[in-house]
Amino acid sequence: MNYEPVIGLEVHVQLKTQSKMFCRSRNAEAAEPNLHICEVCTGQPGTLPVINREAVRKAVMVGLALNCEVAEYSKFDRKNYFYPDLPKGYQISQFDMPISGKGHLEVMVNGQARRVGITRAHLEEDAGKLMHPAGANFSLVDYNRAGTPLLEIVSDPDIKGSEDAKAYLQEIQNIVRYLGVSDADMEKGHLRCDANVSLRKTGETGLPNYKVEIKNMNSFKAVAAAIEHEIVRQAGVLDEGSRPVSETRGWLDDKGMTVSQRMKEESQDYRYFPEPDLPVLHFSREWLEEVKRSLPELPAQRKARLVEQLGMAPKDAATLVENKQLSDYLEDVMSELDAWMITEKVQEDAGTKAKYLKLAVTWALGQFSALLNEHKLGALETKVTPENFAELLKLIGMSKVSQLSAKDVFAKMFETGEDPSNLLESMGLAQVSDESLILDVVRKVIAANPKGVEDVKTKGERAFGFLVGQAMKELKGKGNPQMINEMLKKELGA
Ligand code: MN
Repeated sequence: MNYEPVIGLEVHVQLKTQSKMFCRSRNAEAAEPNLHICEVCTGQPGTLPVINREAVRKAVMVGLALNCEVAEYSKFDRKNYFYPDLPKGYQISQFDMPISGKGHLEVMVNGQARRVGITRAHLEEDAGKLMHPAGANFSLVDYNRAGTPLLEIVSDPDIKGSEDAKAYLQEIQNIVRYLGVSDADMEKGHLRCDANVSLRKTGETGLPNYKVEIKNMNSFKAVAAAIEHEIVRQAGVLDEGSRPVSETRGWLDDKGMTVSQRMKEESQDYRYFPEPDLPVLHFSREWLEEVKRSLPELPAQRKARLVEQLGMAPKDAATLVENKQLSDYLEDVMSELDAWMITEKVQEDAGTKAKYLKLAVTWALGQFSALLNEHKLGALETKVTPENFAELLKLIGMSKVSQLSAKDVFAKMFETGEDPSNLLESMGLAQVSDESLILDVVRKVIAANPKGVEDVKTKGERAFGFLVGQAMKELKGKGNPQMINEMLKKELGA
């Protein structure tokens, strides 16, 4: 391709607060339409908005986590446009004095660190929702969402493709989840993303002279697909010698394409002016310092800690921190194991610790993650307690169960929440580590398989597998493979 994409993302994050942005109506899922509404969020004449302190604090937390300059003064403005889901005829937003100015975010794309600039992050209120009943010649409006707090995060046009976009969006999702300011579920609309996409000739600098905004993407996959589709479409227009129209386009997920919706608005179209009913916000240095100190550990910090302090492999740590619940869970499992190693005086050398860490990570990212995905559950929502998870790892570590049988035990634990030691017993899967029993079996196998023994003598260790297999068969798959191996070697003098 002779072009390179220039992409900026606008991400709307729904903040998790008790009440709405400017009134006391609840900010929560509602059982029926128009349940959480009042005079203010339905735009009745004569009502006045009041700023939600908690929403402001959460917006500032995100700004700080995105390395933004948080302004000393910030104000609200009216953004005027008409739509039936916007009861006042304007949205209270922020124009020239947003909560957060310039910042940046580091994201990993294919193992490479990429820096994406943040232009700004401002607070605003959400609109309601229109519903169009099938076959009806009217529409209905639900104001439950009207007036709920949104943080709009605008990136610099630093994003160079769909992979960058996805990584950036996932990092934002992860950060707001770590901060506890939003559930950031894209499917539920807690996190919404618009993409500004345009192309320039490869090697050129400066912004293209047109801009296309894409809306309606409800998943990470849709964002990536929409961007890829749009790059190809615009390249086609440019190849014909014309210039793509600056417009807003909607993504049709089922058709896998974008369609023109309307001409792109410019900011002057909205006739922004300062909201006269709200005071200017002033953030004192002391307050900002206090918010900064209260920030929890963020994904990047956690990753560094897992690698540097626990000795986790960087790749595992990176995968793990993407899932806050699973990371929290695994840290609980690790502290269970630590406590056990101390009280039971299990050799607390670096090797043992490393062995259990590796086991824990492998199981968390392996079978546990697979089951979580299958059942669409978070790690903290399952029947498997971190204590039982740690217990199973101990049984594996002490060779009381084979890795293979442990998988069956774990599946059952996931289903019933039962204790792994009991399950091992009741499922008859306890691993045989009885030295004399294994020795008996090994001798029997050697006696019964002269050809196998001969092979080991001529071909060496690679012929070993057959005899191990025979012994395992004798022990109904429950033999400790390491012990079988060692005893075979000893008996054959190999
Ligand atoms: Mn917005």
